[in-house]
Amino acid sequence: MNENIIECRELTLAYDGALVIDNLSFDVKKGEILLVTGENGSGKSTLIKAILGLIRPVAGEIRIAGGRRGIGYLPQKSDSSDGFPATVREVVSSGFCGSLRYGIFLPRGAEMRLERAMKQTGVLELQNRCFSELSGGQTQRVLLARALCAAESLLVLDEPTNGLDPASASDMYSIITELRLEHGMSVIMVSHDLDTAVSLADRVLHICCDGAFCCRAGEYPERVASAHTVHRGHNMKGEKT
Ligand code: ADP
Repeated sequence: MNENIIECRELTLAYDGALVIDNLSFDVKKGEILLVTGENGSGKSTLIKAILGLIRPVAGEIRIAGGRRGIGYLPQKSDSSDGFPATVREVVSSGFCGSLRYGIFLPRGAEMRLERAMKQTGVLELQNRCFSELSGGQTQRVLLARALCAAESLLVLDEPTNGLDPASASDMYSIITELRLEHGMSVIMVSHDLDTAVSLADRVLHICCDGAFCCRAGEYPERVASAHTVHRGHNMKGEKT
């Protein structure tokens, strides 16, 4: 349980000189769930982009055991799948795109991993269905299966239960918990669904416009309450109001 899958050290992220994340450090260990939360516009997506290697840090570094190719990514829900003419099996196997041999051949063991990913997410029986005809909950499970095909040891999930009904959200959380407990998968999950997500997480990274902190999930309610008290009791210059 002690191996670090991701180490983020003194990370600073900005767009054209406008600071978004300042001097952030945290680790995610093997088999751990890190919940990333915070208000809109605070920098959660920017952090995810940096983890995926889509933007470069201004300072600091992100070390990922096994490299970025082993990250399975579930993007934020969008309606872009509407009318997408592919079967569930084809969508799930597109998770291997980043690891094709000679750019065209599936990696060794791909068939077995594909079946396993579909079983783990409960979409095996949907494999020949048209992806665009699925319900919201089924769609998210298929996209999680696709992320699993890419994932060696780290899943990055951007609001995986956003827009889902309570039963489908609960299914997603059960699958995520099982992946972590039975397969030692590490998970970085952005979510606003605090009650449930905090109860699943080992640690919480809270990002807000005036800073960030990372703590054990059990300490989070107290930490966030005191952060808000400090924030309410001071003006932008840090002077007491
Ligand atoms: P969150 O995901 O927490 O809602 P974001 O990471 O999307 O926040 O945004 C953090 C800040 O960075 C916001 O002020 C946003 O306007 C700004 N931002 C996001 N993307 C870009 C971009 N591509 N170029 C310039 N500024 C951006």
